[in-house]
Amino acid sequence: NKMLFNDQIMDRKDVINIEDRGYQFGDGIYEVIGVYDGKPLLLDDHLERLVRSAEQVQLSLPSSVEDLKSKLDQLVSINELEEGIIYMQVSRGASPRWHEFPDAAVAPVTIAYTRAEERMTDIEDQGATAVLTEDIRWLRCDIKTLNLLPNVLAKQKAVENGSIEAILHRGETVTEASASNVFIVKNGELYTHPADNYILNGITRKKILQLCKKLNITVNEETYTVTELLDADEVFVTATKLDVVPILKVDQHTIGSGVPGETTKRIVEEFRSLYKQDVKS
Ligand code: PMP
Repeated sequence: NKMLFNDQIMDRKDVINIEDRGYQFGDGIYEVIGVYDGKPLLLDDHLERLVRSAEQVQLSLPSSVEDLKSKLDQLVSINELEEGIIYMQVSRGASPRWHEFPDAAVAPVTIAYTRAEERMTDIEDQGATAVLTEDIRWLRCDIKTLNLLPNVLAKQKAVENGSIEAILHRGETVTEASASNVFIVKNGELYTHPADNYILNGITRKKILQLCKKLNITVNEETYTVTELLDADEVFVTATKLDVVPILKVDQHTIGSGVPGETTKRIVEEFRSLYKQDVKS
């Protein structure tokens, strides 16, 4: 059986499986896990979220969390990865193209690979800028699915404007950013969108909530508006590998005094030491 691949007629078996549901429908889920000093960080939390995403889209994971964990550890060590990421995804499998779920006999397809990537320590120390854009995603942003076109378009807008992130808002309400969660600081307290269906509950976000308890910093998991974002004393975004990045400017508006704020700096430092402990343990 032949297929067209770019401008060539080829054997289907020689090309990616065009009927993988991840490829045709974005019908699958994924995780990105940071690797620091040769060790996946917060792997249990990532796998827990993968299991939840799978349940939410009624996809049965083909292997146990314990198996996945040891396979990923093995992959990192075979690839001799020191600093970088593991990307893993599970699609609902390959099957003749119909929208409904394939026959139960069709097995999901799991893939994972690693990529070397340096830590972005400079950006964490110096800060970066962001743009604002309307959040045009669906209403289940809590599931980490392969459908990322709105996130891709938002991030492209950021990059075209020399910014690191696009901060998303639904009407007046700030949700999160294209590939990270957003926190604001006002009068020494933090505000971040609650972990409901409008945002992805970031593993980094979760870790920061924990460390703020330890630092006696109040975090309000409450929504806030675009105006409150622009009027904030400090703004930062959080994500795997990006960790904690101070946002100094949003569109043309300077945040606070335009340099990384004291609260953000404390959190950057605390996150670093937490991660060092985590890696050692
Ligand atoms: N929100 C979105 C939309 C994301 O894609 C990501 C991760 N890339 C995050 C938040 C941050 O999640 P985590 O801290 O688990 O990487």
